[in-house]
Amino acid sequence: TPVIVAIDGPSGTGKSSTSKAVAAQLGLSYLDTGAQYRAITWWMVTNGIDTADPFAIASAAGKPEIVSGTDPEKPAITVDGLDVAGPIREQDVTSKVSAVSAVPEVRARITELQRAIAGSAVTGIVVEGRDIGTTVLPDADLKVFLTASPEARAARRSGELEGADLHATREALVKRDAADSSRKTSPLAKADDAVEVDTTDLTLQQVIECVVTLVEE
Ligand code: C5P
Repeated sequence: TPVIVAIDGPSGTGKSSTSKAVAAQLGLSYLDTGAQYRAITWWMVTNGIDTADPFAIASAAGKPEIVSGTDPEKPAITVDGLDVAGPIREQDVTSKVSAVSAVPEVRARITELQRAIAGSAVTGIVVEGRDIGTTVLPDADLKVFLTASPEARAARRSGELEGADLHATREALVKRDAADSSRKTSPLAKADDAVEVDTTDLTLQQVIECVVTLVEE
């Protein structure tokens, strides 16, 4: 039977790099659920929907068609057939994604897509996000919850973003985590049966090895 791995945690914990590498190493599919929330946010912004208005977001939630690739070697995402892999990483989308993803209609829509993708994985899949182990795939074979100190997370994030200011990055990150953790529907949280891995003092390679070992156990 296909193996289902859920990897949750806040940003800057090495979640994406770890998930992709684990999937590639074990011959599994890969799904970046943050990219899906970013894609729907990008569509809202592009179509002039007021992202501060939950009712406007709710009524538009069913409109965009979001398709995710599941190859860990080349993650892909399209909205209405348009490649949005670049634009969804932009600052404007990043600052609005928490508000959009807090809307229950958005979560219901995206969760349905996620379950369909996971359910059709042949060998199995590594799904990364915030609520995968608690809500989307509560029966996952392995649940991992990655953490790291706010300092380590901000340093990793500003290393990824060209010319980013460490202080501003840390502040934006803490704010987004707080919003993701405090929303009413499926907040960022560790599932009771998840294995917590603190990545603060680990290299990416060590985190990957740790998760691969957990999958193989
Ligand atoms: O993982 P990434 O930082 O790209 O996620 C972007 C945002 O998408 C998160 O800050 C969160 O608001 C939302 N998200 C979510 N549930 C998930 C994955 C991401 O609400 N499973």
